[in-house]
Amino acid sequence: MQRPPDYHTHNRLCKHAEGVPADYVRAAVARGLPEIALTDHCPTNDGFGIDHRMSLEEFPIYRDWCREAAQIDGIKVLFGLEADYYPGCERFLAPFLDQHPFDIILGSVHFLDYWATDRTRRSLSGCRDTPYVWATYFARIRALAESGLYDVVGHFDLPKRYGHEVTREMLGEQALPALDAIAEAGMSIEINTSGWTHSINESYPSLPILRWAHERGIGLVLGSDAHSADRVGDGFERAIALAREAGYTHLMRYDRRSPTAAPLPIEEKT
Ligand code: ZN
Ligand code: FE
Ligand code: FE
Ligand code: ZN
Repeated sequence: MQRPPDYHTHNRLCKHAEGVPADYVRAAVARGLPEIALTDHCPTNDGFGIDHRMSLEEFPIYRDWCREAAQIDGIKVLFGLEADYYPGCERFLAPFLDQHPFDIILGSVHFLDYWATDRTRRSLSGCRDTPYVWATYFARIRALAESGLYDVVGHFDLPKRYGHEVTREMLGEQALPALDAIAEAGMSIEINTSGWTHSINESYPSLPILRWAHERGIGLVLGSDAHSADRVGDGFERAIALAREAGYTHLMRYDRRSPTAAPLPIEEKT
């Protein structure tokens, strides 16, 4: 099968991944991918999530590593970031994103309230109040879309990773307004295949959400969310089958933050 691009990859600057961008690009070439996006966790200037990202001072290293990796033959390399959405992030993020020639910005919500003094409500995994987690999470995703700062929403139903079960009713009430905001903003979502390697053993997002996204005309990309180079392009045949099941016939390609649709790779009959 012809392979689609991998639009979600990390490297060791974020402190919880291995390798440098060139390792991921070489892995993508070896797997026959036509394109890869380098999307490490975006720095912040206010201390938000500092344990899980490069520092602002390290950003020039990331930029240089990405430039070097883009010299590797046989593949197109996109310069990107996975940037957290949180209330107030716009103050730093909006001018920062304008200062650099990014191709793609993933928008993700990893923390509900990083600033809370009540540490139990700090992360998606730390809070056990499941209805609160989903309601707050999807409200943040909606605000993320309305901010106009991002191109693609990362791992749309991430709280399920931490044991938060979601009902169809909760999804209907909370995920649909977020999807409407994403459609309104002309953004895409990803099938993030890392969910198949987590204990939930399900893609982000699930098939019902992908169907709703397709009904709303929301574009789709694929991302491995590789934190080690061996996961580049992981699970993509399964992701393509899932995309088709949800009704998708195209994936979005990004270049200097502008999307175009390209047909889904054709499955070879064996
Ligand atoms: Zn990460
Ligand atoms: Fe993420
Ligand atoms: Fe990621
Ligand atoms: Zn991620």
